Amino acid sequence: MSSEARIPFLDLVTQHRALEEELVSSFRAALRTAQFVGGPEVEAFEREFAAYCDSPYCSGVNSGTDALRFAYLALGVRPGDEIITVAHTFIATAETITQAGGRVRFVDIDERTMTIDPEAAKQAVGPRTAGIVPVHLYGQPADLDAILALARRRGAWVVEDAAQAHGARYKGKRVGSLGALGCFSFYPGKNLGSLGEGGAVTGADENLMRAVRRLREHGQSSKYVHQTEGFNGRLHAIQAAFLRIKLRRLDEWNSQRRGAAAWYRDALGGLSDLILPDAAPYAEHVYHLYVVRTAARDRLHEYLTKQGIGAGLHYPQPLHLQEAYSSLAIKKGALPVTERVAAQCLSLPMFPGMAQMQVERVAEAVRGFFGD
Ligand SMILES: *Cc1c(COP(=O)(O)O)cnc(C)c1O
Repeated sequence: MSSEARIPFLDLVTQHRALEEELVSSFRAALRTAQFVGGPEVEAFEREFAAYCDSPYCSGVNSGTDALRFAYLALGVRPGDEIITVAHTFIATAETITQAGGRVRFVDIDERTMTIDPEAAKQAVGPRTAGIVPVHLYGQPADLDAILALARRRGAWVVEDAAQAHGARYKGKRVGSLGALGCFSFYPGKNLGSLGEGGAVTGADENLMRAVRRLREHGQSSKYVHQTEGFNGRLHAIQAAFLRIKLRRLDEWNSQRRGAAAWYRDALGGLSDLILPDAAPYAEHVYHLYVVRTAARDRLHEYLTKQGIGAGLHYPQPLHLQEAYSSLAIKKGALPVTERVAAQCLSLPMFPGMAQMQVERVAEAVRGFFGD
């Protein structure tokens, strides 16, 4: 490969080219049955994804955001309830807490795993704590045992935000099967992505899952019988059919991501100004993103962009410092690890099917930047 070859941040085009026949024929089948919302493809996907997650139940919804909102509402969040989560995440984790009537309580992250710090969560727990939402960020499971034990002591629930961690394992168990409910996104760039919007809630409690199913369908328990108001939040049948095709490849794709992470580690090790991501000892990481850290982040980002290498920031401005959360009046400096990581993080190209030569070319550019 020439050193001028561009390296995209994410390459869905190549992934879909290999699946084109299957995807098009499943679209043709949907066209011929005209079953577009709900129906047998959705039910089959729900069974298969539940089995994949080692979870008794799965309910398909319209997005990861819906999954979170319906999970909080199904768990009965009441006005004034505090829900503890991280500020180093995508806003959907937190905005849905507010939309469900709860109050967001941001806590800091652990510097090594970049997920919720159980000690910080412990400090934040109080009489109004109703739930804790660990985010398995970048494909790394949060330290669930510590969080589950903390929640149990307080009679609080745990919802896993697994939108970036399809297939990841915590001490051998699939994420999404450990909290009261697990929430997944099938946004196209996620480890399991639809060709549009999609999401799912997993869980073991039949009543909670029934509540999620009602919420996605205008609160109805059977046709035109509404016990509560709800939402239009269903998974589309075409997306379910596409997801079934992709689910069969997910383990292979995740292992390709782990392979690319290992190549990065070999090629980038030993640079004193660069911190590489690390899988926690309890984790099987699925590298949704490969996020390095450096004090020279902005200059490195610019340098890589000029070299034709796609890189991203996840996330440059923590939620507690966003205008949307100004009413919480949290000062800069309140979440020091979160703020440091936000200033230093840089996501390098990472996608299944990434070639070793592509990883090496990225690594060569990074080493070049540091004058190595
Ligand atoms: C993508 C994402 C969501 C939201 O999922 P959508 O399908 O885009 O609504 C929620 N939480 C995290 C951590 C995410 O990365």
